Amino acid sequence: MSASRSICTRAKGLLAALLILCAVPAFAADDLSVVVLGSGGPGAVGRASSSFLVLLDGTPRILVDAGPGSFARLGETGLPFGAVDTILLTHLHADHAGELPGLVKARAVAVRSDITFRVFGPRGHAAGSDAAYFPSTSRLIDLLFGKQGAFSYLTDFSGHIDFSVKDLAATPVKGAKPESILSENGLEIHAIPGHHRDAPAVIYRIDYRGHSVTFTGDIDSNGWPDLETIAKGTNLLVFNTVVLDPPAAPPILYTLHTAPTDIGRIAKDTGAGKVLLAHLSPATDGNRADVEASIRKSYAGPITFAEDKARIDP
Ligand SMILES: [Zn+2]
Repeated sequence: MSASRSICTRAKGLLAALLILCAVPAFAADDLSVVVLGSGGPGAVGRASSSFLVLLDGTPRILVDAGPGSFARLGETGLPFGAVDTILLTHLHADHAGELPGLVKARAVAVRSDITFRVFGPRGHAAGSDAAYFPSTSRLIDLLFGKQGAFSYLTDFSGHIDFSVKDLAATPVKGAKPESILSENGLEIHAIPGHHRDAPAVIYRIDYRGHSVTFTGDIDSNGWPDLETIAKGTNLLVFNTVVLDPPAAPPILYTLHTAPTDIGRIAKDTGAGKVLLAHLSPATDGNRADVEASIRKSYAGPITFAEDKARIDP
């Protein structure tokens, strides 16, 4: 629960005037919330790898990435997983997708009802001279849970589990427009390709009842134009923050990740209401003042460093 929310709760019992102030917020407090399951990765240095739960009206409904360790954090939050029916994968690096089987089995032992998981993630691509092979998201799900998949038994372990998978465009194209991938009951999810060196990558924006959150995933500087298109006016920009400004990191990392000075510029240009810095590495976590100073060169809004199990309301 956020500090402002708990203050409101206390005020309600004490002062009628404050009750009025708190009872008429700009939006109902529980409309859209984000809980961080994993704020770190890929190194095993005390944080779970990238993973977020998105709550609609207080109920966890959407999982964004499934990094290793998120299974344990999910249990520690005490949040129910049974209503999560939508999974958004930003890319198929292990620190973003490796916990899927564990989370699916955790649901199976906790909830015996049938479910269809709607899974969205990048298309794959063949290995090239300078690129690794990445399966499409549908191929990954098939390899894990398909009839010949490694964990095929899970689909009928308790309730029946189905997967409805959509492979999304994941190669940046000049002038690309965000694609609507889900629209129901006031929930709108858009996607656009990101750029993460050779890994097909997708940026997601979730809008619900007038509030929005955008997840960059891991993107390098080539992901800016698409990010700025999809994130315009977003209330919360969740930006993966792995490297310090050049030349602090090895050059190859700047072909995978965005430097803090550029994060600040993008946050300002998109008009982001607040920024949550996630996927923290020892470099960024250990030099928070430097990260913040770089972002502050352009961006004046609230900046929060993610922690596992933290909740933030867009
Ligand atoms: Zn990553």
